[in-house]
Amino acid sequence: MNQATRPSAAHSALLAVDDIEVIYDGAILAVAGVSLRVGQSDIVALLGANGAGKSTTLKAISGLVQADRARVSRGHIHFQGQSTAGVAPNVLARQGIVHVLEGRHVFAHLTIEENLRSGGFLRKPSRRQLEQDLERIYAWFPRLQTKRKTQAGLTSGGEQQMLAIGRALMTQPRLVLLDEPSMGLAPMIVEEIFAIVAQLNAQEGMGFLVAEQNINVALRHASYGYILESGRVVGEGKAVELRGREDIGQFYLGGKARV
Ligand code: ATP
Repeated sequence: MNQATRPSAAHSALLAVDDIEVIYDGAILAVAGVSLRVGQSDIVALLGANGAGKSTTLKAISGLVQADRARVSRGHIHFQGQSTAGVAPNVLARQGIVHVLEGRHVFAHLTIEENLRSGGFLRKPSRRQLEQDLERIYAWFPRLQTKRKTQAGLTSGGEQQMLAIGRALMTQPRLVLLDEPSMGLAPMIVEEIFAIVAQLNAQEGMGFLVAEQNINVALRHASYGYILESGRVVGEGKAVELRGREDIGQFYLGGKARV
């Protein structure tokens, strides 16, 4: 592997995952030997079919594996040069890792604005700071401002995905773990969401690790990609190069491609 093609060398990486293994219930090996890097202000795609281990990898990074009776049984994860081993998810969140779970988890009975405010509590901001943070999120997601008083459960799937991301941004993260943001959404909305992610990355320098089955949209916005199959990295490369490879498409159609 040519180190120069990776997004960042280990020492300068925002996130460095080295050879991790994750086991559920002390028995089910879901991830076996995954290594990846997210550089300062990179967008990195984690690609793979259903059950490949994308969500488990993200949960290992955010510490949420514990909530699923799983543990990282081998390997190392470093965030901003510090090991995350044994660090509680809420502490990791304070340090700057935020995880937007698959499936748009929002508080359905709360309004959009109440949901966003709930994301701000972690930092215990002053009232003034909280209002400023809200305005910042509304500037990124004008649709949320329009529907600020609407119950989240009554908004569209795209708006709920924007809300889940917006609420995560209220923690002022350095690294956003985004799990399948395109799931079940119309192509135009997916484009809108990825365009905002790209702008957040470019203008605020936030790093993103995006798990996706939608390879086209993910590789158009990412700078680098990893391909997972059965809990292992079976390919990686610059997004522009992965995009040009027909075997990536075949891989998703059940082929045996390797990159
Ligand atoms: P999807 O897009 O379907 O979520 P994925 O690539 O994110 O797929 P994971 O959800 O990480 O894949 O699943 C990887 C493996 O771990 C699968 O074999 C899955 O059955 C197993 N797994 C995931 N969650 C659990 C759990 N809570 N308990 C036991 N096994 C699990």
